[in-house]
Amino acid sequence: ETAVSLSNVRKTYHLGEPVHALDGVSLEIPRGSYTAIMGPSGSGKSTLMHLVGCLDTPTEGEITVGGQAVTELSGRERTELRGTEVGFVFQTFNLMPRLTALENVALPQLFQGIGAGERTDRARELLERVGLGDRGDHRPNELSGGQRQRVAVARALVNDPEIVLADEPTGNLDTETGEQILSLFEDLYASGHTIVMVTHEPHVAQRAERIVHLLDGEIERIEELEGVGPET
Ligand code: ADP
Ligand code: ADP
Repeated sequence: ETAVSLSNVRKTYHLGEPVHALDGVSLEIPRGSYTAIMGPSGSGKSTLMHLVGCLDTPTEGEITVGGQAVTELSGRERTELRGTEVGFVFQTFNLMPRLTALENVALPQLFQGIGAGERTDRARELLERVGLGDRGDHRPNELSGGQRQRVAVARALVNDPEIVLADEPTGNLDTETGEQILSLFEDLYASGHTIVMVTHEPHVAQRAERIVHLLDGEIERIEELEGVGPET
């Protein structure tokens, strides 16, 4: 079963000369798999993640996410898919500075029409799950980098997505804090989620099941690994 599929995807930006950020990418990501994306700066990693995360649409080609053809959806339907099928974690956390941790985690549920009481209960549950049950009232500037990223992970999970996308989630964290975030993702993988993670760090990428190497907007090669595997 396929979680995400890309078929001959091209994404072209026009800033004077056209730039093919992705140039004919085809890729199948099975459900419940753990994929790392590597490649030099400008190779198209962020563009790929934005397309899979339904934050943007391709110039050419087909993308399906959770069995749905993204290119055939309206903007509104894509927003819905983004909430419920894919959760997105960014390198820079992207939390709302004026909202508390709890409010940040609860926010995506607003767009799903979930009632206030249920939103809060669910957000509390997720904060507990990432080990921040006692930090719900703190604003982002009152939290450490690792705590902020854990809030961001909780927010990405609040609508129970099957697929979790992470763009350099440990890029702004020290090694030990990064390790805590990685083990959160590995827990999610072990519980059946599909993980797709961009990283610059080979030792992080080596923990996935496969590494997709991008170069100049194309897949250079795919490396199959043992991966952390589900615990047995
Ligand atoms: P990576 O994440 O691997 O660094 P990106 O996907 O950010 O690569 O970028 C791939 C190429 O597309 C680069 O040449 C970049 O300059 C270009 N690019 C990315 N986003 C945009 C944009 N919004 N407008 C114009 N060019 C872009
Ligand atoms: P990353 O470190 O994840 O590769 P970048 O610093 O390359 O991120 O880019 C951050 C974001 O800025 C990208 O996701 C892309 O949407 C946008 N971007 C990248 N290159 C350009 C560009 N040349 N023009 C406009 N926007 C760009």
